[in-house]
Amino acid sequence: MKKGKLVVFTGCSGVGKGTIMKELLKRNPRIKLSVSCTTRPPRPEDVDGVTYYFISKEDFKNKIEHDGFLEYASFCDNYYGTPKAPVDKMLKRGYDVFLEIEVDGGMQVMYKRPDCISIFVTPPSMEELERRLRGRGTEDEETIKKRMDRAVEEMRFEKFYKYSVLNDEVDKAASEILLILENEKKNF
Ligand code: 5GP
Repeated sequence: MKKGKLVVFTGCSGVGKGTIMKELLKRNPRIKLSVSCTTRPPRPEDVDGVTYYFISKEDFKNKIEHDGFLEYASFCDNYYGTPKAPVDKMLKRGYDVFLEIEVDGGMQVMYKRPDCISIFVTPPSMEELERRLRGRGTEDEETIKKRMDRAVEEMRFEKFYKYSVLNDEVDKAASEILLILENEKKNF
């Protein structure tokens, strides 16, 4: 069986990656989303083992020492990492695996797996991004400020990604991404 494609899927916090991802999973059964480990506390909508594996800092460190992550990074005071084994297993089974990760991790994967597809999702504007972050109503003022500062920093990494997709409409962004994937698979 032909191996699936690894997709680095990045965009600032609040840009709507999660919503696009849901649409992609709904439209294409060959796409899988990698479930990351994190040390951040769960939000009300989070489900352990589905949205993330919520683990302690100690367990996270342990997993780093045992080379359990394809990549990992610190983001706004918490650690996030992609467990390596499940990703490789899904790729081997022919699934296209999306990593919904921030820029540090994205760069690590592009370096380690040069055959990956990298996609950066952009907001219509920074004002709209802040509006969406606030609209979520899950973060306090300090966290929103940190995430907005980080978003400005992250936008500087857009140029390292092969594709940029504007998220002004979820359906449109999802269609564009499916087309990118289809074309990449045709070429390689
Ligand atoms: P959130 O706390 O909003 O769920 O995620 C914060 C940021 O961490 C988002 O940009 C998200 O894409 C990123 N992220 C989630 N999982 C991982 C991961 O496994 N590795 C890295 N590097 N970033 C991740």
